[in-house]
Amino acid sequence: MNLLLFGPPGAGKGTQSAFLVEQMGMHHISTGNLFREAVSKKTPLGVKAKAFMDAGQLVPDEVTIGLVEEVLAGLGGKSFILDGFPRTVPQAEALDALLSKMKLKLDKAVSFEVPREALTRRLTGRRVCDKCGAVYHVDSKPSKMAGVCDNCGGAVVQRKDDQEDVIRARLEAYDKSTAPVKEYYSKKGSLTEIQGTGTEKEVFERLQTSLRGN
Ligand code: AMP
Repeated sequence: MNLLLFGPPGAGKGTQSAFLVEQMGMHHISTGNLFREAVSKKTPLGVKAKAFMDAGQLVPDEVTIGLVEEVLAGLGGKSFILDGFPRTVPQAEALDALLSKMKLKLDKAVSFEVPREALTRRLTGRRVCDKCGAVYHVDSKPSKMAGVCDNCGGAVVQRKDDQEDVIRARLEAYDKSTAPVKEYYSKKGSLTEIQGTGTEKEVFERLQTSLRGN
């Protein structure tokens, strides 16, 4: 099954993708993670993306679409989850063209609905392991030892773009450029909305129910 997880920053797309990967073994395509990896390795892609990411703005479409095309071409038939892509209508149109060229299809698009105040709370308190990417929250899911990852012992840090002024810019970019993508999939009839509030496990149960088509 090929899936698209949709929602604003902080909606839980990454967390729920990790649960799906664990359960169903799909390939997780997170453009945010791919860009962060490229930035940390200082590759040409990372150099292009960094200033946009630091400012909470979207990386230009042609750069992002090229990246996704490369990843999809290398999948070798494995099912995938798209997380954080497409984020603009031109990206959604390009994805349709890519999928049809590669004879692939999206089975479902799931949108996580989370009120704005909850998103801000989640993002400002979010901390991540700089080694394995495990996600924590200062209030609702702290690491056992402050600043140390439970999984791998890496450093638990705040993402530069999870600082308050950058969060504001990211949510603005969502409203302006990404919210219309929801309409795009809704019009196609392939979008399911689920409530993204509550515990991670509760959301995962809702997600599983929606994937079973109930
Ligand atoms: P994320 O981890 O998904 O919140 O992404 C972090 C940052 O990476 C975003 O704020 C953007 O700067 C960039 N980014 C990730 N995915 C995309 C995309 N599909 N289009 C443009 N920029 C993106």
